[in-house]
This record gives sequence, C-alpha cells and structure tokens, in this order.
Amino acid sequence: MYDYDLLVVGSANADLVIGVERRPAAGETVLGSDLAVHPGGKGANQAVAAARLGARTALLARVGDDAHGRLLLDSQRDAGVDTSGVLVGGAPTGVALITVDPSGDNSIVVSPGANFRLTPEDVRAAAGLLRSSRVVSTQLEIPLESVAEVARAVRDLPDGTTRLVLNPSPPRPLPEEVLAACDPLIVNEHEARVIVGGDLQGAPEDWARALLGLGPRSVVVTLGAEGALVASAAGTVRVPAVKVDAVDTTGAGDAFTAALAWRLGQGEPLAEAAAYAARVGAAAVTRAGAQESFPTAEEVAAL
Ligand code: ADP
Repeated sequence: MYDYDLLVVGSANADLVIGVERRPAAGETVLGSDLAVHPGGKGANQAVAAARLGARTALLARVGDDAHGRLLLDSQRDAGVDTSGVLVGGAPTGVALITVDPSGDNSIVVSPGANFRLTPEDVRAAAGLLRSSRVVSTQLEIPLESVAEVARAVRDLPDGTTRLVLNPSPPRPLPEEVLAACDPLIVNEHEARVIVGGDLQGAPEDWARALLGLGPRSVVVTLGAEGALVASAAGTVRVPAVKVDAVDTTGAGDAFTAALAWRLGQGEPLAEAAAYAARVGAAAVTRAGAQESFPTAEEVAAL
C-alpha cells in the first residue's frame, strides 16, 4: 500500500514582502512598510494545501541551512506534511523579494537558491518516497533536468499506478518525455501559450486539444473566476467556478492543483476531481495570502 496520497517535488521559498508608496528608481532609496515574511514557493504551497485537506502528504525539496529554511520546515510540519524528503544545505533558501504598491501591483525578484540545487541525483536518491506515493505533483521552480528525472522515475515505477501531475509554472517549452508523463498537465492561459509555443487559437477547448496533441494523457486549463476545463481522449468538459467574493487570488492555482492531485489519487474521475479542486481554489481566494488562505476539507464542504 502507499504511505502517501501525494508527494510534491518542488520549490520552497521565503516570501519577503514590503508595501511601498512607489518603487525606487535606479540609485534611489524609498521607505516601505514593516517587513512580512511568509512561507511560499509552489512546491511548499501545494504540500500545505493538500495536507490541510487531509491528504497524507510528503515534500521533496531543498532549503538552505538558515532561518528561512527552518521557517519553511516548521510551516510544513505544522500543516502535517512529512518533511523527511526535504534536503538542507548547498545554497541559501530560495527567496522572493516582493514589493507591493497601493494599487496592489507586485514587483518580484526571485533568488532560486537551494531550489536550483535540487538535482536529478537528489530525485534518484528519493526513489523510496516516489515508490510510496500514489500521486506525484511537480512544477518548474526547480531545474528542468530534475523534473525530467521525476517524469522518468514515475514512468518506470514497477506497478505503473503512480500518477504524475505537472503545473509548468513558470512556463517554458517542455521535452516530449515530460509531456508524455503528465496525467494531467495543468495550465492557466499564460502557461498554455508558452507550452503551445505561439498564439492560442479559438476557445479554451481548442487550446486544450492543442495541448493534448503534444502528448499528455490529460489536460486541465484553469480559467480563474471562469473555473476550469478538463480534456482527455474522452473529450472536453467545463468545470464551473464557485461564486465567491475574491479577496486575494495568490496561491489559488497551487490549492487547485494540490486538491486535484489528491482527489485523482483517491480514484475520482478527472472532471469530478477538478470540480472539487475548483471549490478549493474558490475557498482560497476568499482569504489573503497563500498558505494562510488554504482551506480544510470542512471549510470546502461548507462553501
Ligand atoms: P493560477 O493562479 O495558476 O493562474 P487560476 O487563477 O486559474 O490559477 O485559479 C485556479 C482555480 O481557482 C480556478 O480554476 C478556479 O477554479 C479557482 N479560482 C480562481 N480565482 C477564482 C475566483 N475569483 N472565483 C472563484 N474561483 C476562482
């Protein structure tokens, strides 16, 4: 039997946020608000989102041997994530330096740090974790070679029932062997455009078909307040959004992906898993922040 419903392989960042009246020009200094430090990174976010829903979740990631790394490990453990696969050292913990102006617009500088030291060798060394997980979810905030190693490892698992879910964010063109392993590939419009490699033609159904033509077994297109769309050889199905008062959409995609991955592992068909994930995404946008905004299963049921 599987020890984990979900293994997330991905990034962990400290998000350092300062509110500013306006951004400094080159050579200029401006004063900002008090510093807020939040645990973030797509991998860490997905792991917390899944664990909060009740999934038995593990994280394979790399953080620095520093205070930010300890913050990330603590927030994972507090959420109930198994951190035995989190490697420590090799570079400082990844950081996102975020300034937010009064209109709510962000400017962000990311230092990937330890995330970019999560190597294919590290993935191979975690073979036991991969074998013990029903679903593996990954993103592109770690080296692409390591994502490709995850895809090969999942493909080559002896019992062939472990499933790979990929949200290619930040997006870049993907090798065939990675695309072929995705079930599903989960993209928003921007990510779809980069993966398709040109302008998106027609409706989201057409984008999904274009993406399916690149090799994944299934595709999910997330459409923000418009919900989502699932596509496979069986056809395409729209998943309506749940109507909520959106406060902050940060982390909605991560919550959606984690919930979808977990429910697929529980044996739900893709469209049903996506409908549940849309409820989780909707709940997440009703609260500020990323990890702080992720709902429990009870909160999703009450929505
Ligand atoms: P990303 O953050 O990756 O761009 P989306 O913004 O598409 O992802 O959000 C992921 C999912 O979360 C959507 O498919 C939808 O189900 C849900 N969601 C996002 N924004 C809203 C919203 N304003 N109202 C209701 N649901 C939303």
